[in-house]
Amino acid sequence: MAKRKQLHLPILGLVCVIAGFLSLSYTAFCESADPYAAARKRMVLHQLKGRDITDARVLQVMGTVRRHLFVSPHLASQAYADHPLPIGEGQTISQPYIVALMTQILNVKPGEKVLEIGTGSGYQAAVLSYFTDRVWSIEIRKSLAESASKRLKTLGYHNVSVKHGDGYFGWPEHAPFDAIMVTAAANHIPPPLMKQLKMGGRLLIPLGSTTYYQTLTKITKTKKGNEVEHLLGVVFVPMIGKITRE
Ligand code: SAH
Repeated sequence: MAKRKQLHLPILGLVCVIAGFLSLSYTAFCESADPYAAARKRMVLHQLKGRDITDARVLQVMGTVRRHLFVSPHLASQAYADHPLPIGEGQTISQPYIVALMTQILNVKPGEKVLEIGTGSGYQAAVLSYFTDRVWSIEIRKSLAESASKRLKTLGYHNVSVKHGDGYFGWPEHAPFDAIMVTAAANHIPPPLMKQLKMGGRLLIPLGSTTYYQTLTKITKTKKGNEVEHLLGVVFVPMIGKITRE
């Protein structure tokens, strides 16, 4: 018995060495295919887990979506840093933590219909697309709507539809929605969005001054009226279009 065990030990060692080598090569292969894999891991660990992002699925998705492909190549090295980044036309992609937090708060379940107002780069829409089978997103700036739509298609996010238009009016053809996320600052809640929200649905919106800061506000539509939760101070680029004329 003792002899047989001795014979197996070197073989076991060799197997371990080979397995270790293969796993190292696999890691090296993945990192050469995705040079920002390590930066993304660090972002999830320090900026999200290190704060109050506790939803395992949100952490997993934030660790999956290649944020560096949603900004111009010269900003790719900053894509996982703890701040917003310019995406052209004076607009910004939110800091990763804010994207994760808003996704965690909206808590989208499989099969739910989601509408985003303010497509920007398409990053938030891509993140949301992992939680359900259809996401609709509206962007008022034509060039951003076109580039985000193209980017999402190229990256394989086929369950996200982007429309160029004023998100104030929502997307009535696909209403009612279970969840609506507004990613531009608004001084009031556009009534069409409330109308297009299902009973029991949630709307998340940075509400307040469009030039200074806002309060991230969650509204839940109930039969007894709207439940309003004021969550935290945020700074978003202003919503434009109809809202400014109201
Ligand atoms: N969610 C985006 C970032 C949003 S920045 C991302 O993940 O990259 C806010 C965006 O809202 C800008 O692109 C801006 O053009 C857009 N926006 C402003 N007013 C709008 C409106 N009325 N309807 C739709 N989009 C609007």
